[in-house]
Amino acid sequence: AMQGLNGHQEKIYVSVRMRPLNEKEIARNDVSDWECINDTTIIYRNNLSASDRSLYPTAYTFDRVFRNNCSTRQVYEEAARDVALSALSGINASIFAYGQTSSGKTFTMSGITEYTVADIYDYIEKHKERKFVLKFSAIEIYNESVRDLLSSDSSPLRLLDDPERGTVVEKLIEETLMDWSHFIELISFCEAQRQIGETSLNEASSRSHQILRLTIESSAREFLGNDKSSSLAASVNFVDLAGSERASQTLSAGARLKEGCHINRSLLTLGTVIRKLSKGRNGHIPFRDSKLTRILQSSLGGNARTAIICTLSPARSHVEQTRNTLLFASCAK
Ligand code: ADP
Ligand code: MG
Repeated sequence: AMQGLNGHQEKIYVSVRMRPLNEKEIARNDVSDWECINDTTIIYRNNLSASDRSLYPTAYTFDRVFRNNCSTRQVYEEAARDVALSALSGINASIFAYGQTSSGKTFTMSGITEYTVADIYDYIEKHKERKFVLKFSAIEIYNESVRDLLSSDSSPLRLLDDPERGTVVEKLIEETLMDWSHFIELISFCEAQRQIGETSLNEASSRSHQILRLTIESSAREFLGNDKSSSLAASVNFVDLAGSERASQTLSAGARLKEGCHINRSLLTLGTVIRKLSKGRNGHIPFRDSKLTRILQSSLGGNARTAIICTLSPARSHVEQTRNTLLFASCAK
């Protein structure tokens, strides 16, 4: 749990979302042994051997469990909106999608990003008494190297420690959003940039993290005496993480050697940071151990709000990775 704005415990909102079986899985007679028995609990139904039963829980409980027929709109409204829109009141926010490759991270996060920006434009429309400026930036972290997704120059960017703003990405482009269509144009550009240099989008996204950051600045059009809220600024970060198989801890010895070089430092460090934050803020939190956690430090813990959506494949053939994801989600609660 984290210390909130007024000293109350601000915990990370943890939800899981299961996608439907896809055509390929159905074609190979893959089935699902998972069942969401209510809005907060998912259970494993297959008959477990006695040894498995002692190793793995059969029921997992979270703030919210979304079954495979839930829309992204519903996921947004129930598991992301409040956290994302807190940036309108000056509180930094981060929304993460965590899960193995092909479990639905990008599908979920791109929808959530669009719904958030649409809601923010709605809010601005209804609050003419304030003046708003929206700024947008986008980066990719690949092998601990940071790249600007708004630039066609893919050379790595350095991180700098700014005494006032904390860790900043040097030379990062920050676009001031003109309107909704400008935003759509920018995210399409980012998507195209992400695929360059990789054989497939899946290959790129399984190894890299994408952070889209929207910064909201606002000020009262008329200065109202000593109103502290006359000027506000905060960011909301939409984080589409590398495939969680890159953080696998449960591989057999032989497989671990082979996979070792693919283990992703940012993903491992994020796991450690989130586990420590969820246990309370005492002790050292290793934000500085990876690029991802350095960049997100001011939006994690402290006064920030965080939501994690863990995406799951329903397929029996993916059961080990699904368990790993549920374990991660349980630690984040
Ligand atoms: P990831 O980013 O985790 O690798 P994707 O978001 O690319 O996974 O999803 C893999 C495929 O599954 C995509 O074709 C996507 O459209 C589809 N998909 C993911 N989640 C859902 C869902 N909840 N409902 C329907 N299709 C989904
Ligand atoms: Mg993806």
